[in-house]
Amino acid sequence: MGFLGIETEDLCIICGKKVGYTGFDCLDGQFCWTCYDKINKLCLNKSWERMTSAQIRKVVEDGVFYDHGELQGGDISEVTFDSLYICVKDMDRAISFYENLFGMKVSVKDDIYSVFELGSFRFGLFAFEKKGEEHSFGSSCVPSFTFADKTALMEKINSMDLDFPLTKINKNWVCEITDTEGNRIELTARAKSS
Ligand SMILES: [Zn+2]
Repeated sequence: MGFLGIETEDLCIICGKKVGYTGFDCLDGQFCWTCYDKINKLCLNKSWERMTSAQIRKVVEDGVFYDHGELQGGDISEVTFDSLYICVKDMDRAISFYENLFGMKVSVKDDIYSVFELGSFRFGLFAFEKKGEEHSFGSSCVPSFTFADKTALMEKINSMDLDFPLTKINKNWVCEITDTEGNRIELTARAKSS
């Protein structure tokens, strides 16, 4: 293609094709010019130079921006944000409202906890009064953060005060804490299927 560079037999760590003349270095390999287009849009300030190939692949898969200044030593979080629930007083009324808002049928309909699958995001409706819980509506939106596994979650909550103790609910381990600002948040991990 005529770009300056040393021809290499290395394969691109993203697409697997020959890097050719125009390789770009990350911590444990090179990627090609074609993949550079994708990576450069997502990795600001050439932050790929401080990433491993696995980290770069995750950035590209997730389509999330990474800025050199925010990497803190090259770590990329394994915590994902993929669901939240809001409290409702009347499940049927709430389902109708959100079915109308989203233009889709509810994915899981339940008296206690109903779910809308929004892409890969799960938006829940929780009939809190039926479980005898108390919520004020200033704090009725509870973001849920998913950890890699139960061990990672337990390490995280080891020294924390829990508002809701670690409990296995269906296929997930779930607990709740209050952040430094007074917001209730939920921390979860998938239970191993065995
Ligand atoms: Zn490539």
